[in-house]
Parts: sequence; structure tokens; C-alpha cells
Amino acid sequence: MKLVVLGGGESGVGTAILGKKKGYEVFVSDFGKIKENYKEILSINQIPWEDEKHTESLILDADVVMKSPGIPEKAPIVKKLLERNIPVISEIEFAFPFTNAKTIGITGSNGKTTTTLLTYHILKQGGLNVGLAGNIGKSFAWQVAENNHDYYVLELSSFQLDGIVNYRPDIAVITNLSPDHLDRYAYDYNLYIASKFRITKNQTENDFLIVDHDDVEINRWFQNNKTKAKKLSFSLTTTVEEGGFEENNNLNSKINNDLFTMPINELALEGKHNLKNAMAATAVAQLMKVRKQTIRESLSNFQGAEHRLEKVLKIQNVQYINDSKATNVNATFFALDSMTGPTVWIVGGVDKGNDYDELMPLVREKVKGIVCLGVDNQKLFNAFNDVVDVMIETTSMTEAVKIAQRMAEKGDTVLLSPCCASFDLFENYEDRGRQFKNAVHNL
Ligand code: ADP
Repeated sequence: MKLVVLGGGESGVGTAILGKKKGYEVFVSDFGKIKENYKEILSINQIPWEDEKHTESLILDADVVMKSPGIPEKAPIVKKLLERNIPVISEIEFAFPFTNAKTIGITGSNGKTTTTLLTYHILKQGGLNVGLAGNIGKSFAWQVAENNHDYYVLELSSFQLDGIVNYRPDIAVITNLSPDHLDRYAYDYNLYIASKFRITKNQTENDFLIVDHDDVEINRWFQNNKTKAKKLSFSLTTTVEEGGFEENNNLNSKINNDLFTMPINELALEGKHNLKNAMAATAVAQLMKVRKQTIRESLSNFQGAEHRLEKVLKIQNVQYINDSKATNVNATFFALDSMTGPTVWIVGGVDKGNDYDELMPLVREKVKGIVCLGVDNQKLFNAFNDVVDVMIETTSMTEAVKIAQRMAEKGDTVLLSPCCASFDLFENYEDRGRQFKNAVHNL
């Protein structure tokens, strides 16, 4: 069997190694540049590869093709493969048949990484032999090739899910739904939603699907569609029958009539959105029979993920927070919502068709000044100029942080939560977050 791997990144190289181990004839092709360390690994494993081109004669006679999630369906080479009815699948789909491990698949528009890391943390503290994969860290296929875990917590993007045929998570989580990446879905929100729900398409009655009970789009899907899995949910507004809910300032989670409870102020992660993420992770841990005491300890000693409402420093009683990963309105909504006092807000970057209406009440209530950090800040000025006292723009992170420092008084918070993509001024959101942290440390 000939396996062609399109994309020589983490998931591509992992798939190539697994394929080779399972006896496939493997070829890796990347239209961009493959990183030196990956080239070396491929060569050591005697896997032929090419980069900065796609040699069609070598690709189009594949029996199966693994496409990296970053490559769109409309890429010419993918179109040609599909025209020839050659199966094009994702790394998760390719690796799945080669492991007996149970998997927990986590998807959604926001909160995937946080919920995945938190779930992994609890299960690990619970003593399970668990791996972390998907969009995080070492690829799933690579870990399956090394055969080293009984359980995996997988962060799954819609692009990974687009390429599944038989993948079936024992437990699936959909954190929430809001518009994102619509450029890859013909600007059709329904297609994006359908892609997220593919996570449950192969589940059976022995599996579980955990969803946000308060999410309008999730509920709309259930009006017209069904899952075979047992549905659990979490909510900030109602006491759900099975799953997570808030009561008397406690996080509660009821699974099979067994109630887990813990004070919300003991959770390591702050904010309503993180309460939901914690409910989802707790439900998974209960299903996996982790002891309640361990769940409680893990939820309170979890070290949050970098660039997600990350507390950087307190200087002269002003708290600096890095939320660079907030690249859409919904993520920033929850960041502003979790601010407890006056806030200086650093915002801006590449607009994704943002509608700022949803943020207005929070900005009115909490934001005393705005620093716009982007090449084109017109839309932000149109939205907020009349709402806040001061609004200043800059294209330098160092400047932005200095301006924010001048605006802030004792007890205030300076929040970087850009609401936008980072590509106008930064390499990516990590680069933006690191530059913010450096600038704060240099104050
Ligand atoms: P993802 O992996 O889905 O992008 P992250 O956990 O990396 O999600 O968080 C991305 C951004 O969204 C961060 O700014 C974070 O503070 C915010 N966020 C985290 N969880 C949620 C949630 N449940 N709902 C809305 N926003 C969230």
C-alpha cells in the first residue's frame, strides 16, 4: 500500500513514521519548506520526501493520502486526488486503527486547548497512562507508533475532523460554537458546525458526548440531528440532569447520580468560560473513575496554558494579563467578562469580520482606556471611540505596554486580548504574547 503524506510538519512526520512501521510504502511531500529536524528524522527512518514542490506523478498513484490539517480542501493537489477518488484522510483517522487506547476527543470554537490540557492534567494526576496529542505537542500518530499510552486526550480542530471516516472517540467534548475559520468553509457557518459535530458521527451507545447546554448553535444542531452517544452537558444557567452546573458558588458535576462538588474560588483558572472548561474536564474525569479528591486537587493546582488569560506580573499594584490567544470576539468577551475592576484593554490586529456589538456592555462597564495595536484600527475606533475616555493607537508592542501603564492606576488591570489575528505585526499569537510579556518585564 502506498501512503502519501501531504505536509511535512508534526502530524505529517508522525504519520509517515507510523505508516512505515506498519509496512506502507511512504512518501512525504510538502509545498513549503520542511523543517531541518523533520528532514533528518525522515531520512533516518529511510522515508523519501520532497519539499517546495508536489511531484504529481508520485502523489497521484497513492492508495491513501494523509493531508495535514493546514492544507485546505481547495488546494489544487487535493482537488486532483479527490477527482481520482483517492481517499484523503487526517492523521487522527490514519492512526486510529493502530491503537487500542481509548481516546477523549475535544473540539469546539474556543477552549479546546485549555480543556484538553486540564483534562490531561486530571487524568495524569489520577495515575492513568495518558498521552496528550491532536493539535498539541507530539502528534497522535507518532505516539501510536511508539505505542506508549492506554489513553489519549486529543485536541481536535475542525480540519482534523473533516478528514475522519471511522475515528470514534470514547468520550467527545464540544466546548462551544461561534464563527471561526469560515474562509475554509465557503463562508457557510452551517458547514463549520457540521464539521465540529463529525466528532460524534461514529460514536455508539457506549460512548459519551459532552456539550455546552447553554450554547444556541449546539442546541439548534440537536433539534435536527441525533447522536447515538450518551449525552451529558454542562451549564452556567440550569441544573442539568447529568453533567456540570453551578450552585451556591460551587462547581457541581453529577454523573450516574454521583455528585462531585467543589467551591469555585478554589479553581486555579478564573472566569466563567474556564468554569465551563472545568465542568467539561471534570465530567470526563468522573467517567474515567478518577477519585474525587484527585479531581479537586488537580482543578486547584492546574497551571494554566500560556497566552490564555495568563497573569504576567503585578507592577505598582497593576495586574498585567496576556490573553494573546484571544483571536476572536467570543474569546475576548470572556476575558473582559472575567475582569473584576477597571481595565486598560490592548486590542487589535487583523480583523476577521468582527462584530463588536456583543462586547459593548462589557466595555462600557469595565474598560477605562483602549490601546489599539494594529496596522488598521479604523473599525475599532468606529466601534469604541465614543464609549471609552481614551483611545490611542500604535504599531509597537513596547509602546502599547508603556501607554497602557500610563493609563492604569493602582488596582487596575492591563489586558492584552486582541480579538483579532496577529499577522499584521507579529509572526503568530505566540510571538505577540511573548513580546507583550517581555515589554511588561521591561517596564
Ligand atoms: P482553542 O484551543 O479552542 O483556541 P484556548 O483554550 O486556546 O482555545 O483559548 C483560546 C481563547 O479563548 C483564550 O483567549 C481563552 O481565554 C478563551 N477561552 C478559553 N475557553 C473558552 C470558552 N470556553 N469560551 C470562550 N472563550 C474561551
